[in-house]
Amino acid sequence: MLGLYLHIPFCSSICNYCNFNRGLFDAALKERYVRALEWEIRRAGDGSDADTVFFGGGTPSLLEPQEIGRLIDACRNGFDLADGAEITLETNPETSTPERMEQFRAAGVNRMSFGVQSFRDEELRRLGRLHSADRAREAVSEARGAGFDNVSLDLMMWLPQQGRDDWRTSVEGLIEVDPEHASLYLLELYPNAPLKEDMARAGWSQAPDEDAAEMYLWSLDRLDRAGYHQYEISNVARPGRQSRHNLKYWQDGEWLGFGCGAHSTRGGVRWKNVSSTAEYISRLGEAPSPAPVGMLTERREMGPQERLEDALFTGLRLTEGVDLAAFGRRYGVDVWAVYGSALQRFVDEHLVLRDGARLRLTRQGMLIANEILQVFV
Ligand code: SF4
Repeated sequence: MLGLYLHIPFCSSICNYCNFNRGLFDAALKERYVRALEWEIRRAGDGSDADTVFFGGGTPSLLEPQEIGRLIDACRNGFDLADGAEITLETNPETSTPERMEQFRAAGVNRMSFGVQSFRDEELRRLGRLHSADRAREAVSEARGAGFDNVSLDLMMWLPQQGRDDWRTSVEGLIEVDPEHASLYLLELYPNAPLKEDMARAGWSQAPDEDAAEMYLWSLDRLDRAGYHQYEISNVARPGRQSRHNLKYWQDGEWLGFGCGAHSTRGGVRWKNVSSTAEYISRLGEAPSPAPVGMLTERREMGPQERLEDALFTGLRLTEGVDLAAFGRRYGVDVWAVYGSALQRFVDEHLVLRDGARLRLTRQGMLIANEILQVFV
């Protein structure tokens, strides 16, 4: 089944480390954008089966609940959305109120994903985030009050000045709030991030690599003990509560992305919408009716080799790894015969496990996943 991704590129303020496709909230632009999104979804709708909808951003919770409802309706009208489809809204804690949570729920959202990042106010201030740790706790309890029984929290690790005890505070804070799912991301400082300048000015630094590795391993161990199951390099969940939408990215699935900068993968073809919000709106406005899907996008057919490598690259992010026999049947390639010699040294170092027909990373291997996965690029 397809996953549907809807990109909402608006934020109340711009965090100093962020290089996502987003801009400052503008009410008039947002209204035009929501209309364009509805139009794009309607135009692409072909009645195919879909079982997940994911509102990502940006800050999708800046949309009005009735706008989220309209977009879910557009998905239902264009696609055969399964009963019990997972419908996720990425939410920033400062945008949450009990009323809005109830309205989002009534609009059809059934999974809330909160960008908490840290349970330490000092760290949140350094990142330029608008919420406090208490606000994050309140937002989760507002979601619970509105009946959400599927809640996810994002935390960020390797923040400036964050030591092991600070990270522990955030992980313990997460466990206390008791979400069904959590994502633990490593802060990546892109070359011109304003946070880099802030760090230089204030004399802040990141923990040494060895400490960061230890913090990552410690948190996974702690979350194991709290009843969470790691299913991907950066993701843990209570049993049965993995992100069904994100699994499509890692399990060689298919998805359609709507909105500026959104990516799609279907039938061996990958395409991307234009990144600029204004251009996205104007190109859709100019589109003849019905416009060809390719009008918006960079479109690329993936050859069998690229599809295989992509599936291995993403599949190995999962703790269950990949089933080499299944890959052989699907792609007609003996994966070990092709990549075995490059992978053997990682197997010898217990960074990669070859377990019967399965290939997977060990937790130590996950620490250098980027290096290992280069084998497939
Ligand atoms: S709220 Fe998220 S998307 Fe928006 S600027 Fe901050 S990190 Fe980026």
